[in-house]
Amino acid sequence: MASNQLIERWVRPEIRAISAYHVQSSSGLIKLDAMENPYGWPQAMRDEWAELLRRTDVNRYPDPHADALREQIRQVAGIPEGMELLLGNGSDEIIQIIAMALAGPDRVLLSVEPSFVMYRMIAGFCGMRYEGVTLGADFALDLDAMLAAIETHQPAVTFLAYPNNPTGNLFKRDALMRIIEASPGLVVIDEAYEPFADDSFMDLLGEYPNLVVMRTFSKLGLAGLRLGYLAGPPAWLNEFDKVRLPYNINVLTQITTSLALRHHAELDQQTAAIRSERERLMRELAVIDGVSASPSAANFILARLPAGQAKTIHAGMKEQGVLVKNLDGSHPSLADCLRLTVGTPEENAAMLAALRSCLS
Ligand SMILES: *Cc1c(COP(=O)(O)O)cnc(C)c1O
Repeated sequence: MASNQLIERWVRPEIRAISAYHVQSSSGLIKLDAMENPYGWPQAMRDEWAELLRRTDVNRYPDPHADALREQIRQVAGIPEGMELLLGNGSDEIIQIIAMALAGPDRVLLSVEPSFVMYRMIAGFCGMRYEGVTLGADFALDLDAMLAAIETHQPAVTFLAYPNNPTGNLFKRDALMRIIEASPGLVVIDEAYEPFADDSFMDLLGEYPNLVVMRTFSKLGLAGLRLGYLAGPPAWLNEFDKVRLPYNINVLTQITTSLALRHHAELDQQTAAIRSERERLMRELAVIDGVSASPSAANFILARLPAGQAKTIHAGMKEQGVLVKNLDGSHPSLADCLRLTVGTPEENAAMLAALRSCLS
């Protein structure tokens, strides 16, 4: 039997229907498409890291619970007393762990649209039904529509990115609270961009039996290490821990993140630089004719271009060596939109120059 016949027979139809997540090639380009921190580490930190690696054995399995690292994260992130902490190979893995633990026929994973695409994809992988409620004007939550969807679908879990990706905005805090209160299932506040925002739900942990907070080190500068975490009531996290593969956080990630957290001041400084560049970019974009930028509490800016030009401008910018993300076509409310990751001042200048020249 030819392999495509075997695939038709055995691979689940919902998997066959998914188009693989596409990552565009970036070699030789200024990379402003994936919300990475553009700054590397200072030489002294690199030397310390190299020394640490020299003394690290890789013939043994890692600490399955990464206890030392978890304790350090508790301190740095201010995890409230009495709350549990679970680590994932990126927060993507945590979304998968939650979905695996909650999946079942007719179980619903609820989110908003447009938002982080992995919610929908992972729901599909795990055989959950996905429902997405369209955001309102200015990408604000449509609270009535959310409450109606919660009533109708009784979601097992609701994911809300705060700030939202790819729109960059923070939803209204009281709207989120209403959603948490109205939800029969778990509500995950995804704070992937928390370092760039001035608000968090971390301090509300423990006040609601169905609230957990998820974060990642990726946008903070450690995307290559793959480390995310979930904080929340021990009863929930103990269940999720059963689904987690035993050695999901490898030795190199454990020791390297631990080193990075000992130098947290360095990462904080980089974050501050990115935040101030974001404000400068907003001011620069505001005076470009035909471009309108959405307010952002993240390390990227959603920019709307004159109608019908996103594809050409995206390609033109790439031609000039600058890679950003074209969102046109991914959702009706993202028509004509590009997502611009905030880079170094030099990278941002090159990005703006490319954008200006493609517009004229
Ligand atoms: C980037 C991102 C994540 C995933 O990050 P990891 O690299 O897997 O930790 C999760 N949620 C949102 C909203 C993101 O933008």
